[in-house]
Amino acid sequence: MSFIVAIDGPAGTGKGTITKLLSKEMGLVNIDTGATYRCVALYIIQNNIKLEEKERIIAALPNIHIDMKIEDGEQTIFLNGEDVTKEIRSKEVTQIVSQVSSIKEVRFAMVEVQRNLANGKDVIMEGRDITTYVFPNADVKIYLDADEKERAQRRYKEMQEKGIDMSYEEVLKNIQIRDKNDKEKEIGALKIAEDAIYVDTTVLNIEEVKDKVKQIIEEKRVIRK
Ligand code: C5P
Repeated sequence: MSFIVAIDGPAGTGKGTITKLLSKEMGLVNIDTGATYRCVALYIIQNNIKLEEKERIIAALPNIHIDMKIEDGEQTIFLNGEDVTKEIRSKEVTQIVSQVSSIKEVRFAMVEVQRNLANGKDVIMEGRDITTYVFPNADVKIYLDADEKERAQRRYKEMQEKGIDMSYEEVLKNIQIRDKNDKEKEIGALKIAEDAIYVDTTVLNIEEVKDKVKQIIEEKRVIRK
């Protein structure tokens, strides 16, 4: 039976970084669920489909094939066979992804992709609805949180490091809009599962958060064995 670690929380809580680090340290397969929605957003940009054209977005779903592989120790995301790891983090994709992921049909299709990618493996997955919807029976459920301004500061630094041109104000605004959108989704809304362990990361550095999460996982893994 597979072992599933599910982590949810808003943008900028360190979910992605911690999941990547722990996947390597603990031998768990990392499935970045946000990347699946980012691939749909990239596909609609590439094909000149507008956000308002919901029917066209839904009709395009069967043409969107997503895969994730580890190449040179790094997670690589493929959209229809093409490496889009970098492109899916662009400003353009980031600006529309939350709205794209609000479309019910997009969610159904992507949750299926995510469950298929996890099938039969020991996984660590992060997103917004993993603990509540994708894997409500996960072995470990964690909700990571942090103060909004601290999250925006972290994201801004990350964008700078990646050479993406966005001001702090733009990043903060984007986070506020995405948070609101993510919490109000009809299906798969961001919320704290009743049985999730809540971790506030505002005053913790990435190493401290990682250690805390690792300890929680190790305790549950021992119980399962
Ligand atoms: O985690 P990341 O910032 O890459 O996610 C991009 C967007 O995808 C989020 O803002 C959210 O709207 C959406 N998402 C989601 N459900 C998930 C993961 C991400 O709706 N499980």
